[in-house]
Amino acid sequence: MSLSSPISTEVIRERIADIHAKLANTNARLIAVTKTHPVEVLEMAYQAGMKVFGENRVQELLAKQPLLPKDIEWHLIGTLQRNKVKYIVPFITLIHSVDNWELLVEINKRAAALGRTVDCLLQVHIAKEDTKFGFSEEELYQIFKEKSFDNLAHVRLKGLMGMATFTEDKAQIRKEFATLKTLFDQIKNNYQSPNLDFTELSMGMSGDFEIAAAEGSTLVRVGSAIFGSR
Ligand SMILES: *Cc1c(COP(=O)(O)O)cnc(C)c1O
Repeated sequence: MSLSSPISTEVIRERIADIHAKLANTNARLIAVTKTHPVEVLEMAYQAGMKVFGENRVQELLAKQPLLPKDIEWHLIGTLQRNKVKYIVPFITLIHSVDNWELLVEINKRAAALGRTVDCLLQVHIAKEDTKFGFSEEELYQIFKEKSFDNLAHVRLKGLMGMATFTEDKAQIRKEFATLKTLFDQIKNNYQSPNLDFTELSMGMSGDFEIAAAEGSTLVRVGSAIFGSR
């Protein structure tokens, strides 16, 4: 199915089926990244069977969420500012992009006020480009050494998220995903807290989700391979 076909429920359905086929025999679950697309396109994806949507901007997420069916899982995959936490905590399923400790403390506070527990991932900087957000490897280990998750009873830390370098070099991409998987395993095996439940590794996008899935991703975040280029 060509990416230039006009978008429709059928086109979306075929592309999703194609991606699911490529993810068969892996542990990866597909998240449809719907950023920049209008509500009508999200409705098509829903009709095509998608129930897990990822948005990267809080503003856009807040505009779309009330207009769509309530059984959708919403994932935030982009930068979150502390003053926006309160708006998404009532409904968000997973925040992939926690990149500082204070943000986690704020999520915990707002979730506690609502009697919710919010699932979060720590975003790790694995790419060569310095434009991508997230903890460095050193900062990540420092957090686990110096901070205690025991008091964050309304946050459940589910794992890590990362983005590979934007490159044609598949070996480089594979190496970066393998690095993130190693980090994930080390943290999972070395740190314990009632609020840690390391089961999710969010890595892989349209261009590299097959490599990510082969390297142990549990959540691939795919936009343009489903909806066409933005
Ligand atoms: C946009 C985006 C994606 C999806 O990108 P595609 O290349 O369109 O699949 C995945 N992850 C994050 C964090 C994004 O911002």
